[in-house]
Amino acid sequence: MEWEAVIGLEVHAQLLTRSKIFSGAPTAYGAEPNTQACAVDLGLPGVLPVMNAAALKMAVMFGLAIDAQIARKSVFARKHYFYPDLPKGYQISQYELPAVARGHLDIEVDGATKRIGITRAHLEEDAGKSLHDAYAGMTGIDLNRAGTPLIEIVSEPDLRSPAEAVAYLKALHQLVVYLGVCDGNMQEGSFRCDANVSVRRTGAAEFGTRTETKNVNSFRYVEKAIAYEIERQIEVLESGGRVVQETRLFDPSSGQTRTMRTKEDANDYRYFPDPDLLPVVCSNDYIEAIRRTLPELPAAKRARFESQYGLSPYDASVLTGEAALADFYERVVAASGAETKLAANWVIGDLLGALNKAGTDISGSPVAADALAGLLKRISDNTISGKIAKEVFEAMFAGEGDADAIIRAKGLVQITDEDAIVAAIEQVIAANPGQLADYRAGKDKLFGFFVGQVMKATRGKANPEAVNRLLRAKLAG
Ligand code: ADP
Ligand code: MG
Repeated sequence: MEWEAVIGLEVHAQLLTRSKIFSGAPTAYGAEPNTQACAVDLGLPGVLPVMNAAALKMAVMFGLAIDAQIARKSVFARKHYFYPDLPKGYQISQYELPAVARGHLDIEVDGATKRIGITRAHLEEDAGKSLHDAYAGMTGIDLNRAGTPLIEIVSEPDLRSPAEAVAYLKALHQLVVYLGVCDGNMQEGSFRCDANVSVRRTGAAEFGTRTETKNVNSFRYVEKAIAYEIERQIEVLESGGRVVQETRLFDPSSGQTRTMRTKEDANDYRYFPDPDLLPVVCSNDYIEAIRRTLPELPAAKRARFESQYGLSPYDASVLTGEAALADFYERVVAASGAETKLAANWVIGDLLGALNKAGTDISGSPVAADALAGLLKRISDNTISGKIAKEVFEAMFAGEGDADAIIRAKGLVQITDEDAIVAAIEQVIAANPGQLADYRAGKDKLFGFFVGQVMKATRGKANPEAVNRLLRAKLAG
């Protein structure tokens, strides 16, 4: 019997506001514990929350970007539960009337596009953090994170495989980072994912019972956790058992999920509208003003890179992976006037390769866009060959200066003077009579040997096209 997986993701994205969602305390990551929590974040009596307008604006931006309905009126509610990192005893969230509802995001899997529904995205505050490893035999509580603004983005159960789930998560990650509403840092917990998974017999109309695996904090872990959970549930069902609806935890070291707690139902939370906060009203003008500030979104940029620059879908998707990288590429093309494909090869192959090796990204590139453009100009105008350009690039990356300075200092200008190339060819032929005889006797493969020798004799500087052409003529005798 075949099984089908059904997956829905809940993603918490931390909004890039400077202060918290209901207080003026700062949101910066990594401060000394409990230095960034004020009376409101601590839930002390006698203080009142005030909504941060920037958080709402970011939620609306996100909603517009996923083509969702922006609530003209949304309401904050209290979600009650007890945990030491939640001093108020409730989390302020949105329940019945979320800020954003009914959007969608398109993903690409195996060359096909699939539309994934987004049920809702609501604003809420984050809780604090329990520090289990900081003190022997004790747990510390750090409330710096309490009150940090989040949007919780809930997908429809439209995903059918771990690969689709990861594609969706990556597309969502890319989108919130493009919008500038989230820094996307998964290690620091700025973008976290809970995975809801169930399985059913292929063709069944009803969904199976689901489990929710909490806080899987990398793309790879999400894929692994879901794959494990699918296998586990299939085994349970095939051996005649039943899947228990529960919250599970992923353990990266074993690649397995395990029971954390049985799942609460919504009514256990005793949700009710927070009487300390007014309903949030968004006018059409407010929404339209935000719409005008939206940047070009990843999918549109990708399509434009394909049509405007004639790039392959692969190149376009790599170059638009990050807005900063896309900008970099466009500056290189504009400043160099180079072939768009040549520029793409240099940015994707050489630059990204070097950055990756150096453990940094485009924002930390030692070679600026204009500098790379300077190098491409020298390839385009035949000052240097593509091969020598690699050497120049390495020197640029190592901080030795711009392309022209390096070409001059190292004497790398390409030899295009055909007399000089012919002289080198004649020397090589004279020095290798055996190979010459073999070549003329039909050993065609030796042509490459002669090219190599000529390039060596000219220290790689001879124009490769001229070498090939002139060598062929000379060897023919
Ligand atoms: P809760 O608030 O208890 O987490 P929701 O109804 O908000 O429950 O659903 C949470 C997530 O679970 C959503 O992403 C939804 O798509 C997903 N989901 C719901 N039912 C199933 C199911 N049977 N299998 C897999 N995912 C599901
Ligand atoms: Mg949930």
